[in-house]
Amino acid sequence: MKKLNLVLLTIDALRPDHLTTYGYHRPTNEAISPFEKNMVVFRNAYTYSFPTVRAFPALLASTWPDACSNETAWQYFKKTRLPKWSQTLSETLKQNGYHCTSHTGWSNFLTSGQGYARGVDDFVGMLRQDGVSAKNGIDQITSAMWRRFIYSFRYFPSMNFVNFLDWFAHWMRESLNIIFKAEVKEVGGVSGRSSEVVTQYLNERIKTHQYEPFFVWGHYHDAHVPLYPSPEHAFTDKVTSRDHREIGTAIYRQTPLNAERHQKLIDLYDGGIRSAFYQIRRVFDQLKTLNLLDKTCVAISSDHGCALWDHQYWSYPEHYFYNESIKVPLLIHHPQVTQGPKMIDTPVSHLDLTPSLVELCGNLKDERSFGSSFAPFLIGKNPLISREEVWLETLGPPRYTCLIKDEEKIVFCNSTKTFIGKHDGTDQLIPTTRSDEIKFLDLLAKYEKEKAKHVKQFQR
Ligand SMILES: [Zn+2]
Repeated sequence: MKKLNLVLLTIDALRPDHLTTYGYHRPTNEAISPFEKNMVVFRNAYTYSFPTVRAFPALLASTWPDACSNETAWQYFKKTRLPKWSQTLSETLKQNGYHCTSHTGWSNFLTSGQGYARGVDDFVGMLRQDGVSAKNGIDQITSAMWRRFIYSFRYFPSMNFVNFLDWFAHWMRESLNIIFKAEVKEVGGVSGRSSEVVTQYLNERIKTHQYEPFFVWGHYHDAHVPLYPSPEHAFTDKVTSRDHREIGTAIYRQTPLNAERHQKLIDLYDGGIRSAFYQIRRVFDQLKTLNLLDKTCVAISSDHGCALWDHQYWSYPEHYFYNESIKVPLLIHHPQVTQGPKMIDTPVSHLDLTPSLVELCGNLKDERSFGSSFAPFLIGKNPLISREEVWLETLGPPRYTCLIKDEEKIVFCNSTKTFIGKHDGTDQLIPTTRSDEIKFLDLLAKYEKEKAKHVKQFQR
């Protein structure tokens, strides 16, 4: 098989049940529907961990967050650097002659210091290695200062403090908008999270490297709070600065919103998703224009879900394992799939993504991946279930482990050695039985052994 190019697009905090492809009532991803006949859709794909900084080690290096190490000795928010023994998707592809490009959408959780630039030829992270300068001199200076400031903060404060700063900046901005009747969406040039610029960058790299195998990864923040969907793709234009402020505060404090504001938040979220998919459409259009669609595999996913008070909480606190937090969309466009969208119910984990993508792009193997490839599902060679257990773990503190098996989820708190309960087929949390607990502990012991064996094999 000839090598295929690879495009990976991730949308932060996108939950699959808000996509039309997964049965949602709104046209949130209609932008890419012309390309669905070449797509495989995984109905039961799971993140390995959350939030963002914990999710990506599995997504881009098929490893688990606890295997990561500290960036600095005094780091409060620990274990953010990819383990040295792991191999990133870019490193594997680079070794096989690919030109690799990554644009993190300037995420402050996916930096080169953490190892996300490993194997990447063109990397744009927090500190704007893209060379795209801000609009004017003052913007450039404030922007550079803010970025440097936030970058340094990555390694010092507690997550609670980071969340507080985030909320406070949002609150201040929207309060000033209310007072001055302004529409400022950025604070001190920090935002810069224009998904249009991300797409532009990716499309330029695709064009430049069209005659050699290439890998392009882009990360979008359109479905992540604060939500400001592009006006042409928004589902409502009735959201005021006061709404934005109250929504931000409710999410930060984990308190309910009234019905009207709750609906506005859902409208904003759906509009954000729709905006992101119009950007993804631009990438598809670029591939089509350059006659690369039948030479390229395109994968679309997110890093974790996003709760919208379905079970009385917002976003993704680390001790909840309801589907809205842990399920991710996974859509793979592959030239060998022609009668799609092909729906797959087999549970898969983000751990499986890297080995699958390298196999899908030219039968490449990556021995350092801890996950297992689901590539055979896509090209129809092997319809059997390969993965009987899906594991998730959050680092807290306190730490939690979740096992998904036989359409049930068992949640265990590792720090207190207690069982939180079992989610049944309808996602209701019920108490575990003694036999559930014995079975879980037995499987967990085996799983931990497998992890230890894997590390030992590659660690020098
Ligand atoms: Zn995230």
